[in-house]
Amino acid sequence: MRKRVVAGNWKMNTNIEEGLLLVKEIDHLVKDLSQETGVIIAPPFTHLATISSLLKSENSRILLAAQNCADHQSGAYTGEVSPNTLAEIGCKYVIIGHSERREYYSETNDLLLRKIELVLKANMSPIYCIGERLEERESNRHFDVVSSQIKEVLYNLSEEELEKVIIAYEPVWAIGTGKTASSDQAEEMHEFIRGIVADKFPSCADNISILYGGSCKPSNAQELFARKNVDGGLIGGASLSAVDFVAIIKSF
Ligand code: PEP
Repeated sequence: MRKRVVAGNWKMNTNIEEGLLLVKEIDHLVKDLSQETGVIIAPPFTHLATISSLLKSENSRILLAAQNCADHQSGAYTGEVSPNTLAEIGCKYVIIGHSERREYYSETNDLLLRKIELVLKANMSPIYCIGERLEERESNRHFDVVSSQIKEVLYNLSEEELEKVIIAYEPVWAIGTGKTASSDQAEEMHEFIRGIVADKFPSCADNISILYGGSCKPSNAQELFARKNVDGGLIGGASLSAVDFVAIIKSF
């Protein structure tokens, strides 16, 4: 069965004290909600170990994600963070290929595939982000772009590996802009993505969770999540408010 997921990407926001406060608020608010929806947060690297201990001590249902990882497990890679150590401190997920990483740090599909393989080897699940830029949508190339992002990366995995992947469709023009894709645009692309996955992995396509990301907020989450192929959201800005984030989780 397809899993519903709402994941919060904090990006480079909050200091540790603010982060701990935010987690405590979210944890308090989600305690009594139905367990059907998976709740994930992705704080900055510096917060992960402390937040992981807090979540453990509170017996929380919130699962932890890193926002990125290295494409090597260890060695002379100054400033990088090993997937193994992320797993060791309690991360269950790693966001891979966020458009900000593709855009500002020139991350390519080849590099992202290497990261995904290491994340899977470390027994975590990648949340693999894909999505087109505004000019690509305006020139009607959005399906081609998304198709290549899937084929060049996910087509190299085995069926068993793919089962552990979550896809996040995030049209770049909707991220942090306040401009959300309409639920028709989201559903059209999610259905397309599921079809591309089905071409190579017919038995997995129906079960893979495809999240929508891009200015998702309490006022539009319900309409988006009501669509057949939208299995939840990857939330940026609105995940920094416990009340908004939990309102989004409640939108199913
Ligand atoms: C994101 O960064 O993944 C995102 C969806 O951001 P926002 O919700 O702020 O558009």
